[in-house]
Amino acid sequence: MIPPAFEYLRPATIPEAISLLQQYGDDAKILSGGQSLIPMMKLRLARPAYVIDINRIAGLSYINEEDGNLKIGGLTREAEVEHSPIVAAKFPILVDTAHVIADPQVRNLATIAGNLAHGDPANDHPATMLALGARIVATGPKGERTIAVEEFFVSLFTTALQPDEIVTEIRVPVPPPRSGGAYFKLERKVGDFATAAVAAQVTLDGSGNCQRVGIGLTNVGPTPVKARNAEAFLLGKKLDEANIRQAAQLASDEAQPSSDLRGPAEYKRGLVKELCARALSRAVERADK
Ligand SMILES: Cc1cc2nc3c(=O)[nH]c(=O)nc-3n(C[C@H](O)[C@H](O)[C@H](O)COP(=O)(O)OP(=O)(O)OC[C@H]3O[C@@H](n4cnc5c(N)ncnc54)[C@H](O)[C@@H]3O)c2cc1C
Repeated sequence: MIPPAFEYLRPATIPEAISLLQQYGDDAKILSGGQSLIPMMKLRLARPAYVIDINRIAGLSYINEEDGNLKIGGLTREAEVEHSPIVAAKFPILVDTAHVIADPQVRNLATIAGNLAHGDPANDHPATMLALGARIVATGPKGERTIAVEEFFVSLFTTALQPDEIVTEIRVPVPPPRSGGAYFKLERKVGDFATAAVAAQVTLDGSGNCQRVGIGLTNVGPTPVKARNAEAFLLGKKLDEANIRQAAQLASDEAQPSSDLRGPAEYKRGLVKELCARALSRAVERADK
């Protein structure tokens, strides 16, 4: 499949990229890893007249811990997150997530920022970032603004980004001691998008009760779903089997799956229930270590 003709632009700085976005508006698309944009162009589902390749912009690829946040640069690749010792130490949920995205070839190119900016509810990072309470840094003509991840996903393939903004960083609050998280995904075969997946991140208080919890669901709605009822149910409670099962039921009720090639809606609801219970149990195990 061959994409329609387009003009290829390669800015050297963020201001230059933003000025190109301002100049070409809806006719332009940012290219980072190209692992979603190029397939969509080949299928002619996206037809940008201008492709703005930001890969040569220096200083956008990093992972560091600063000011109580894990900071992931706008051009950081999935493979870097997957193998980062900083991430592994405090964010096993991010390692789980990066590890089940596509295959190593895709992960060598695909960026975390692109995974979020694409606004695809089948992508894996959105649910994990919802569970972690991340913030997205968007840079535009007026400078930087941060967007809470729960306000970022507006509708199918639509985010809160303005047409002249670029995701330049993702900030994830460093969890306090006695925190843990996990991501569980069921895919039809290795490398596939999720039939359903669940991200869970918990923090325990001094008595072992749930002090904070975040639960995100993948590919069971037009946007990634934050399972707010399940979260509210668990707050202040023991994370024992009965409460985990009840929360998993609530998360399943909050899912809005549709029937498709990956299975009927009721099957996906059942999956959410099981995957949520497993993700919460693993999160508690990791928090207790
Ligand atoms: C075979 C295959 C299997 C896959 N399986 C999975 C999977 O299991 N799970 C999963 O989550 N993903 C999967 N993906 C998608 C992959 O992870 C994508 O690459 C990722 O979702 C997009 O990141 P990217 O850097 O490649 O973005 P690109 O493809 O370059 O861009 C995607 C979209 O985001 C916009 N964009 C990109 N970067 C920015 C930025 N910094 N600021 C503003 N807008 C930006 C682009 O304009 C475009 O609209 C798969 C892809 C392939 C090819």
